[in-house]
Amino acid sequence: MSQSVILYLNDCGKHTIFIGTLRAVNALLPNDFPYHPHWKWNDTHPAFWELTASCDHLKPVARGGTNNIDNLVTACYKCNSIKTNWTLEELRWELHEPTNDSWDGLVGIFLQIMEQSKIQEKSLKSWYNLLKK
Ligand SMILES: [Zn+2]
Repeated sequence: MSQSVILYLNDCGKHTIFIGTLRAVNALLPNDFPYHPHWKWNDTHPAFWELTASCDHLKPVARGGTNNIDNLVTACYKCNSIKTNWTLEELRWELHEPTNDSWDGLVGIFLQIMEQSKIQEKSLKSWYNLLKK
């Protein structure tokens, strides 16, 4: 199994957005687009759950799954939250190969926001410095 396989619900399959882009929008519009560092449900915009990517375990850790690269896949947070300790077979989910298109997860917009704003948040600046290289 490839480490670059993307896991998602049959009806999910959407492109995900780089979390830095959403965090930058939050920095500009904190009241309209809230974010909580621990993703507190009432203080975090649903877009963070539905549009950002997470690392998930094919075989759940609670059922003996490891952090070995062969057991890790990409999933949106919403699918990750639904999957919890179920296996793909139990949920009747399928693995899908990554799409081969030009989607950049809106990283380009993140870079533009960081260049055109005065956002000073440390993690956002770190991501910016890594990505602009
Ligand atoms: Zn999903």
